[in-house]
Amino acid sequence: MLTASAPAGPSNFLRDIVAEDLRSGKHTRVVTRFPPEPNGYLHIGHAKSICLNFGLAAEFGGVCHLRFDDTNPSKEDIEYVEAIMEDVRWLGFDWRTKLFYASDYFDRLYDCAVALINKGKAYVDSLSADEIREHRGTLTEPGKESPYRNRSIEESLDLFTRMRAGEFEDGTHVLRAKIDMASPNPTMRDPTLYRIRHVPHHRTGDTWCVYPLYDFTHCLSDSIEGITHSICTLEFANNRPLYDWVLDQLEVPCHPQQIEFARLNLTYTVMSKRKLLQLVADGHVRGWDDPRMPTISGLRRRGYTPEAIRDFCERIGVAKRDGVVEVAMLEHSVREDLNWRAPRAMAVLRPLRVVLENYPEDRVEELDAVNNPEDPSAGTRKVPFSRVLYVERDDFREDPPSKFFRLAPGREVRLRYAYIIKCAGVVKDPQSGEVVELRCTYDPETRSGSPASARKVKATLHWVSAHLAIDAEVRLYDRLFVREDPEGGKDAEFTEYLNPSSLKVLTGCKLEPSLEGAVPGSRYQFERQGYFCVDPDSQPGRRVFNRTVALRDIWAKIEKGELAASR
Ligand code: ATP
Ligand code: MG
Repeated sequence: MLTASAPAGPSNFLRDIVAEDLRSGKHTRVVTRFPPEPNGYLHIGHAKSICLNFGLAAEFGGVCHLRFDDTNPSKEDIEYVEAIMEDVRWLGFDWRTKLFYASDYFDRLYDCAVALINKGKAYVDSLSADEIREHRGTLTEPGKESPYRNRSIEESLDLFTRMRAGEFEDGTHVLRAKIDMASPNPTMRDPTLYRIRHVPHHRTGDTWCVYPLYDFTHCLSDSIEGITHSICTLEFANNRPLYDWVLDQLEVPCHPQQIEFARLNLTYTVMSKRKLLQLVADGHVRGWDDPRMPTISGLRRRGYTPEAIRDFCERIGVAKRDGVVEVAMLEHSVREDLNWRAPRAMAVLRPLRVVLENYPEDRVEELDAVNNPEDPSAGTRKVPFSRVLYVERDDFREDPPSKFFRLAPGREVRLRYAYIIKCAGVVKDPQSGEVVELRCTYDPETRSGSPASARKVKATLHWVSAHLAIDAEVRLYDRLFVREDPEGGKDAEFTEYLNPSSLKVLTGCKLEPSLEGAVPGSRYQFERQGYFCVDPDSQPGRRVFNRTVALRDIWAKIEKGELAASR
């Protein structure tokens, strides 16, 4: 597989830094890394980080490592490791042989910790977690030194060795850096480097019962791997002095530069893995890959393409200050990509039966339909036309309002690729009064492409011939949350803003027969409706489609009150 290279788009401050470091000779080769913790599935925010790290490496002829930051065994799982690798590959990126795990470095990290103790730069603290928190101080008040801070080097070494040997319970001791309890930056107030956790690890098993913390692990892993630019999100800016401090105390292979950028936030979306896990665990969605989830696997199942996601990440740029991106921009990227990629098909989602009274019972015509007007090489296909058809229920009104130009009694419309038809009457259910069938006539002179087809009518409808139509289930997705900032409610859990109609399941939808062979993952534009993708739930005889995105931004119209929210 080739490494997808980001289009060398407009410059951003990260590109500028890397380019300058190469120009000045500070580095001769760029090495970046993407360091996920395998405690959940990747989301669109991670995609941003993946595109940046792999993209920069590819653009400058370097390499990007995939490194699992697996130092917290109680939350991590091999299932997540595998899902993360699948998602990074699917996005189009390749770490080649550069697959690493922080747990591969546990021995070296332990040795580094011992070296810090020997230098008097780290000590074993025996305060409880609560006491350590109480000693930490606040943003305005300095912290207090632990009574164990001035333990002898020998005593700390002995305790640390016994911590590792499994002599102590979880939480009885920790290893802390000896920096400055009065530092204005709370991160520098003797941060914890190691803690005791009697938990088996998905890779190292029972070998360890002390595990290093992020701040200690990350900088050393970067250095061990020869990373040049360690790109992370803004919330780590306060950790940068600690990143540098650890590397400055030790003999290390190199000292990478940590650079922060603003994390991606999206409207109507929660992005933290903890919250996404909660949505899955509490059954608010069907799984990590539910098409309403902002996970890579959810977007994939919904029909997003890797190209659309990469385009989105490039388009939103790289910022130094936090902001929120409209989720409509993501939808715009996938619409643009699918517009030229997705073959067209006709599908009637809410069918209304139409009988053409003057069309012979036993006749079936094969009409030519264009596969993709954006791509002439996609060619044409045949769609059958016959006496009984389906049109969209919404495309008929018995009593049309003034701006409604589609079918109504006495009205003419064109059927796409076919004929002009006229509604002569309706058949109603005697009990409910609901219209169940339209009686129409067709004009044989108006077949598409013939001279009389130029006759002006105000609407062209999609349709499916009842003859050979395929039945399908179609799942329509809406925003998962009704609130633009689901996490911004005062005193309210984000789950209180879940959209009760984020999933609408339509059954008995009618598809043109060319979709017979559609396999899970294949994507189509259903004419006049939107982009749809075959769901893996599909089985022979029970086809399931997901709506990736509607053709136009229906949501914006609903918000402006131009459309009924029921759509
Ligand atoms: P979350 O906050 O969603 O739980 P995390 O930061 O804990 O995410 P990691 O697995 O540690 O998840 O993230 C791996 C990399 O992805 C990190 O470098 C992190 O900075 C980056 N990343 C995570 N979320 C975003 C985001 N929303 N936008 C950009 N980068 C992100
Ligand atoms: Mg993290």
